[in-house]
Amino acid sequence: MKAPLRRGFSFYLAHMSTDRRRFIKIGLAGSVAALVPWRLRSSPAFKPAPGIKVLSTWDHGLVANAMAMSVLGRGGDALDAVEQGVAVVESDFTNRSVGLGGRPDRDGHVTLDACIQDHDGRAGAVAFIEHYEHPIQIARAIMERTPHVMLVGEGAERWAKENGFPRKEVEIPEVREQWKEWLTKGEYKPVVNRENHDTIGMVAMDERGRLAGSCTTSGIAYKVHGRVGDSPLIGAGLFVDGDVGAACATGTGELVIRVAGSHSVVELMRQGMEPREACRVVVQRILDKHPGLEEHQVGLLALRKDGAHGAYSIYEGFSYALSSEEGTELVKSDFVRALK
Ligand code: ASP
Repeated sequence: MKAPLRRGFSFYLAHMSTDRRRFIKIGLAGSVAALVPWRLRSSPAFKPAPGIKVLSTWDHGLVANAMAMSVLGRGGDALDAVEQGVAVVESDFTNRSVGLGGRPDRDGHVTLDACIQDHDGRAGAVAFIEHYEHPIQIARAIMERTPHVMLVGEGAERWAKENGFPRKEVEIPEVREQWKEWLTKGEYKPVVNRENHDTIGMVAMDERGRLAGSCTTSGIAYKVHGRVGDSPLIGAGLFVDGDVGAACATGTGELVIRVAGSHSVVELMRQGMEPREACRVVVQRILDKHPGLEEHQVGLLALRKDGAHGAYSIYEGFSYALSSEEGTELVKSDFVRALK
């Protein structure tokens, strides 16, 4: 097995400063795929695509992809790429929806959720954990060092400490102030597409055609203490099947969980559906089966084993970072509803 490539933050910055100018074409792409007719096939044999690929949710995906591409570009594994890619965003304490810079729950605790899955379906997850900078690394360690998939809360924190992960106290006055202000009304109303609501999910393929995915979040701002969303749940926030493809989700986790969002996308691709269409069908299923929750955003992102990819969201405004050897671009997802 290849030794994992570990690069520092300075490497990532250097990579960004040179490659950014060369490659990134932000906002030029529009939608990546047209609606392609699909047909059901019993067991499609998707041929692995030549070349490396990384897709991740929202604008913060650009910096995450840069790190992931630096791993893949040196022949690294998809699993290392998705772990190290999203870890960049976890370390950005100006981000209000991922990592320790995220907004707290309604009791003032910043609680984090993450999961990771490899080509062979091995999975690790951590949920409702406080005071650790890199839940994605803990999720991977749970996958590799325990017979379990998921640890939560106090048990997860104890296990992380025993396994050498450093605790970190991060206090951001601005975040505290905004939480205190929120407490004066205590209104529980997530806002579509606002920054309090943007998990990073990443799916990637390495040069050997192996897939992996990761997902990490501080969850919905001002959530009830103890709430866990879709992001650390294999099948909801993330699902990888090395024979078919990978998918990840962002948005109101409760809705994603109800339809096993990422798993559903992968199963539709298994039946022969194009990635974009699979995402659209699952988004539409959420809308059809759960009336009354229309104000919530959900975005789904998929990468098929043959390199085809696509996304769909309930509302306009979901975007994802797409990287390959050709370069990186921020792509606007297709959607069901325009924002007024
Ligand atoms: N899906 C995340 C959650 O429900 C939130 C988000 O994507 O913004 O916790």
